[in-house]
Amino acid sequence: MSDLKRVHNFNPGPGVLPLEVLQEAQAELLNFKGTGMSVMEISHRSKEFEAVIQTAEADLRELLGIPSNYKVMFLQGGATLQFAMLPMNLRAAGASADYVVTGSWSKIALKESKKLGTARAAANTEADGFNCLPKSLDLDPKAAYLHFTSNETIHGVEYFSEPTPPDGVPLVCDTSSDFISRPIDVSKYALLYAGAQKNAGPSGVTVVIARDDMLARTPENLPVMLDYKTLAESGSLHNTPPSFAIYMVGLVFKWAKKVGGLAAVEKINREKAGIVYNAIDESGGFYRGHTVPEARSLMNIPFRLPSEELEDTFAREAKKNDLIGLKGHRSVGGMRASVYNAMTIEGAKELAKFMKEFQKKNG
Ligand SMILES: *Cc1c(COP(=O)(O)O)cnc(C)c1O
Repeated sequence: MSDLKRVHNFNPGPGVLPLEVLQEAQAELLNFKGTGMSVMEISHRSKEFEAVIQTAEADLRELLGIPSNYKVMFLQGGATLQFAMLPMNLRAAGASADYVVTGSWSKIALKESKKLGTARAAANTEADGFNCLPKSLDLDPKAAYLHFTSNETIHGVEYFSEPTPPDGVPLVCDTSSDFISRPIDVSKYALLYAGAQKNAGPSGVTVVIARDDMLARTPENLPVMLDYKTLAESGSLHNTPPSFAIYMVGLVFKWAKKVGGLAAVEKINREKAGIVYNAIDESGGFYRGHTVPEARSLMNIPFRLPSEELEDTFAREAKKNDLIGLKGHRSVGGMRASVYNAMTIEGAKELAKFMKEFQKKNG
């Protein structure tokens, strides 16, 4: 049964998907809902696809408790395009936007924003090696919005409660790598966006959730594919959407509901991350976590070993044990275990066991 051999996939993104979701997609790949065609082959304006996108949206609304005065969009261009679309739509000419910089992704978001207008860092933890959350924010009370990254995928720094913007300043979040990993209060946000391929599906679709008053900010004459208002009003069907990717995120949303919703998903995520952090903490300093304990991500766990040579050996031997994707990002070095929603508790236990055995042999 070599085709059923699945490894423990710790890739940072595209990342692991639930086996049941892949099997469901496989089962209906050739004949979607009796059409005699794959979901990839049907019109995005057919009633079958209409059901796909509407169900995906309804399930996401239920999972996150999205209030009715928010629109949900399924867009293309990745989270990276959102770095530009966001200021193009929400920041009026001459206005400035605030960014909390806690890692590589928020740093890039700020850089992209500056290409298009005025933006400033309300905090920047780079001097600490992006290993913590800022102790305080220097907030502009007139900012067009305050942007933060709820989970820094490379540095493993996660916000568990949102920063508070000044009165009237909309809060915007890049939630690409902790999207649907735990319940959040959407009503605290003006806009959220997430590339799907970290925690919610394949690459190719980016989910944007925007409060109605944010859509009213879209200026006239933006190119249509950059225009939130038009894209939202068309139900993400202004042009051909990434239909297969939308179908896949829809299956993942259904799966998360079946697990018991986001509170149940969070409980499992806490257990998994706890297993890996314990292996780090109980190693007597052989493994060193990158992030200060109070900001430790439940999704991405970067850690170092005593030498780069040992880190290379670790990655190689882990792979032989079917523990895949553990090499850290080159900017941090070392290892990184990404334990997204679809990583199993068994996978986390296998990694912890391997870490203990590796230390015994090499410590
Ligand atoms: C991966 C990632 C991005 C970039 O996503 P793309 O979809 O590849 O553009 C942005 N922000 C965060 C937090 C990410 O993890």
